[in-house]
Amino acid sequence: MGTSFTIICNECEYSKTIMLGVGMAYSPEMLMDFDSEYAILPSLIRSKKTLEFVKMLISDKGGVIPYTYAHKIYHCPKCSEFYEHFFYQVNYDGGIFKPQYKCTKCKTVLEIISRENESQGDLNLKSYPCPKCGKYSLAEDLSSVVMWD
Ligand SMILES: [Zn+2]
Ligand SMILES: [Zn+2]
Repeated sequence: MGTSFTIICNECEYSKTIMLGVGMAYSPEMLMDFDSEYAILPSLIRSKKTLEFVKMLISDKGGVIPYTYAHKIYHCPKCSEFYEHFFYQVNYDGGIFKPQYKCTKCKTVLEIISRENESQGDLNLKSYPCPKCGKYSLAEDLSSVVMWD
């Protein structure tokens, strides 16, 4: 089951809701099945080129998608905007493929700041400036947590 996470700014009206985790239908089998009508990856991978590449890794290079995938928080190191993207990796003969997402505003490659990554500990929103007003006044809106799927 996934949860949502809302970032708010205490200085301006910035607010962004981000979905985290995985839905109930996201089993590894479902993820590697591209042809059924319930196929999940085609709806999660927005780039057609990337989707074809992932398909090729799985069909031709023994690629598998380990259970590390989830919707995560991505952050632009340049303009500080927050995004939600689907993180996954494909382990294949010869390497590991991970998607790269770019900021739609400034095209900088986004970094994952999900607090689901244990080694990073809790997400410290105060260490990021607000994308809108630039002040260090971001907080988590705990009143708006909802479960999805
Ligand atoms: Zn940016
Ligand atoms: Zn702000």
